[in-house]
Amino acid sequence: ESKFERKPEWLKIKLNTNENYHELKRMMRSKSLHTVCEEARCPNIYECWAVHKTATFMILGDICTRACRFCAVKTGLPTELDWAEPERVAQAAEQMNLKHCVVTSVARDDLKDGGATIFAETIKAIRKRLPLCSVEVLIPDFMGSDEALQIVMDAKPDILNHNIETVRRLSDRVRARAKYDRSLRLLKRAKEMQPSIPTKSSIMIGVGETYEEILEAMDDLRAHDVDILTIGQYLQPTKGHLKVVKYWHPDDFDRLREEGYKRGFKHVESGPLVRSSYHAHEQVQSAEAN
Ligand code: SF4
Ligand code: SF4
Repeated sequence: ESKFERKPEWLKIKLNTNENYHELKRMMRSKSLHTVCEEARCPNIYECWAVHKTATFMILGDICTRACRFCAVKTGLPTELDWAEPERVAQAAEQMNLKHCVVTSVARDDLKDGGATIFAETIKAIRKRLPLCSVEVLIPDFMGSDEALQIVMDAKPDILNHNIETVRRLSDRVRARAKYDRSLRLLKRAKEMQPSIPTKSSIMIGVGETYEEILEAMDDLRAHDVDILTIGQYLQPTKGHLKVVKYWHPDDFDRLREEGYKRGFKHVESGPLVRSSYHAHEQVQSAEAN
């Protein structure tokens, strides 16, 4: 391993766990639920679950019809379509006493609605059990289907999140079957369908983009009325995945946060360990306050 492949100090953190955390993990398995927090071995898990009362559920199974080069989720033909899943997610959210719940999924290009109906049912099920919990959905692009998007928007999530993941030039190389402009359009359509619901997107940096290109991606998002932005460092999940080209310095993330606010985003999270769902509860509040 060359010294360039070694992680810089600011990315070395110890996973903080306790008994409560292990209990929650057992509960997730007993309900056959998947969380991004666990599967992505997210370094923020203790802080999110125990302190901020936030978790990110991955619905619609753990096999994706796509194979993005940065993503650790298994690729294949999914078989799962579990209509009881929304209720189990709601039960788990209740048991964890969540204040903010993020619901995301693999890309289900095999389904006619891309899984939109299950998203909508999950929002409704959480609302029923935990009326005060904000619900953010991080959706796939539904292959650009307005009908599918409308099903989700009609269920009125607190935040509609869809990630562009990277800058325009690298989009086709980094993401499978997704299109940069299709993602931008989806974000704009969501805002047109429900103007009061904040929209959000995320960029992971360190895959070969330039500083200028990151600013251009921000401009593109603002031109499509996106309210909330998160920027985090890409970390390679396994040796088989896309290589990290650069570890951006924490000072760069600070500069990018400022650039984001200058451009009119209502909330910007930018930092090496920031993930799409990091401090998500604060994002709801600042988007509402504006
Ligand atoms: Fe889970 Fe997101 Fe928090 Fe990570 S940042 S632990 S994925 S909610
Ligand atoms: Fe991973 Fe999403 Fe790409 Fe599927 S579509 S491989 S879950 S990033």
